[in-house]
Amino acid sequence: MVGAILAQNTSWRNVERALERLKTEGLLSPGALYTLPVEELTERLRPAGTYRVKAVRLRAFLDYLFRVHAGDPQRLAIGDLKTLRNELLAVPGIGPETADSILLYGAGQPTFVVDGYTARLLARLGLAQEKASYQALRALFMAHLPPDAAMFNEYHALIVRHGKERCRKRVPRCEGCPLLGGCAFAAAPCPGDPLAMRAGRRLCRASGDLSADGAQ
Ligand code: SF4
Repeated sequence: MVGAILAQNTSWRNVERALERLKTEGLLSPGALYTLPVEELTERLRPAGTYRVKAVRLRAFLDYLFRVHAGDPQRLAIGDLKTLRNELLAVPGIGPETADSILLYGAGQPTFVVDGYTARLLARLGLAQEKASYQALRALFMAHLPPDAAMFNEYHALIVRHGKERCRKRVPRCEGCPLLGGCAFAAAPCPGDPLAMRAGRRLCRASGDLSADGAQ
């Protein structure tokens, strides 16, 4: 749960460094974090980047956890998903992605986490608008998949991996992609197609060449 808050706008490697520091000092528990003076908490979150903001947000989350759930994270695992999600969204600094990350990864609740990789993939596949809202994208998964936390976890992990290794932002590696046959982006006519141009592709699928101008 702490990791979900620290992960905002930084790499997971930085989050791990901050978590490791907290763990080494025996501070990775709700009680220890909650009793730590905010200045000391701020200093310990430094490896995670934007640490002052994250200290305030983590403290706000802990305030909520102790005020509503007696400081017991397990209660987030057994409560009603919709209620818990609304509670979290009311905590300052916790948006939909962080709330869903806390609930899925931290509490094992069956809620789908949407991120930039997810939005890009759905838009390219033609399953959602490029500017679709978080709520619309999440609703798509929630409506079409069984509520299975382990599956949601794996599903999202695979989307992230696909986005990093193949469906990259600037230059997607479409050739050999297992989703190529159903991908609106790859099928878009080009040259001159704005999506293809944006991807930096040198030639287009129509010419049988999906190569790009350069590696990302
Ligand atoms: S075919 Fe290309 S754009 Fe489509 S999902 Fe695969 S990598 Fe992404």
